[in-house]
Amino acid sequence: MVVGSGVAGLTAALRCAAAGAKVTVVTKARLDDGSTRWAQGGIAAALGEGDTPEQHLDDTLVAGAGLCAERAVRALVTEGPDAVRRLVDTGARFDADDATGEILLTREGGHHRRRIAHAGGDATGAEISRALVEAVRAAGIDTVENALVLDLLKDGSGRAAGVTLHVMGEGRRDGVGAVLADAVVLATGGMGQIYSATTNPAVSTGDGVALALRAGAEVSDLEFVQFHPTVLWLGPEAEGQQPLVSEAVRGEGAHLVDADGVRFMRGSTSWPSWRPVTSSPRASCGGCGSAAPSTCTWTPATSGPRCGRGASRPSSPPAAPTASTR
Ligand SMILES: Cc1cc2nc3c(=O)[nH]c(=O)nc-3n(C[C@H](O)[C@H](O)[C@H](O)COP(=O)(O)OP(=O)(O)OC[C@H]3O[C@@H](n4cnc5c(N)ncnc54)[C@H](O)[C@@H]3O)c2cc1C
Repeated sequence: MVVGSGVAGLTAALRCAAAGAKVTVVTKARLDDGSTRWAQGGIAAALGEGDTPEQHLDDTLVAGAGLCAERAVRALVTEGPDAVRRLVDTGARFDADDATGEILLTREGGHHRRRIAHAGGDATGAEISRALVEAVRAAGIDTVENALVLDLLKDGSGRAAGVTLHVMGEGRRDGVGAVLADAVVLATGGMGQIYSATTNPAVSTGDGVALALRAGAEVSDLEFVQFHPTVLWLGPEAEGQQPLVSEAVRGEGAHLVDADGVRFMRGSTSWPSWRPVTSSPRASCGGCGSAAPSTCTWTPATSGPRCGRGASRPSSPPAAPTASTR
C-alpha cells in the first residue's frame, strides 16, 4: 500500500506493480493534489553533454553550505539522470529540441551547468503528475481518493500491517475503515502548511510524518521545510498557499529587493548571486547560533541570517521580498 500520490508515491506504486506486487494508492485529496503538481522550474539532473554526477554533487554540496548528507546527495546525482529517463518512458513530455529530440536544459541558481529539465515551460510538475496519474490508471493500480490516512496498523511483532483511514469520498467508498497490507510506503510529502503563509499546497500538513512518529518510526531532518525563495506574499492577512514567483524570473536576471527597495541576495550575475548577501556558507545564525543560516526565515534578510530561536518570533513574517526586473 502506498500513501500519497505525488511523484514519490506514484513512482513507488508503478515500480512495485511492475515487480508484480498488488498495489493500492491511498491519497488525501485528488490524485493530482500535492506539491508535485505545483513544481515549476524543473528537475536538476546531469543530462547535458560534458556534465557529470560528480559536478552536480560539487554544486549541491556548495549550495548546501555544509548541511547536506553527502550520501543522500550522491544517490540523488547518480540516480537522477535515469530517473528523468524513466519519467520520459512513463510518458512525461519534457521540453525538447524539435530537430534532435534532446531534452532542453536550462540553468538555475547554484548550478554551474545547464541541467534543469523542464516541461511546458514552467509547468514541469503538472506534466509529471499528468503522466504518472495516467500511467497508474493504465496499469490498473487500485486508487482511493479523498482518503485521509489516520494511523499505521502493526502486527504482533511490530511490523507495519496496514493503515486506518477516513474516506470522505462521494464515490464507491466512504466512511472510516482500515486497509491491510504486507508493506506500507508513506510518501506523504512535506509540512509547509505549519507556516501561516507558504508556497506549499493545502495537503502539505505533515500528518504522514506524525502518524509515522506515533507508530514509533524514527524521523530526521524535520527542520528542512521546502520553502520557495521567491514568493508573492499577499500581505498581513495572507494565509495558506501564496503564489510563487517563478525561478525563471531570477534566471532571466531579475533582482530581489526588500520592502524598502534594498537589494539582497546580491552578487555577480550568475553563480554567487544565489547565496544570501549577508551570510557566507559557514555563517552562523544570529538567533540561535547554529550553523544553519538557510533556516532563518523570520528576520529581514538585510539584517543577517537569524531564526526564531533566541529571539521572539514576530507575529507576521518579515517584509516580503519581491522580484524586480531592473
Ligand atoms: C510551489 C512549488 C514549486 C516547486 N518547484 C520545484 C521545482 O521547480 N523543482 C523541484 O525539483 N521541486 C520543486 N518543488 C518541490 C517538489 O514539488 C516536491 O519536492 C515534490 O513534488 C514532492 O513530492 P512528494 O511525492 O514527496 O510529495 P507531494 O507531491 O506533496 O505528495 C504528497 C501526497 O501525500 C498525500 N498525503 C499527505 N498526507 C496524507 C494522509 N494523511 N493520508 C493520505 N494522503 C496523504 C497528499 O495528498 C499528496 O498526494 C516545488 C514545490 C512547490 C510547492
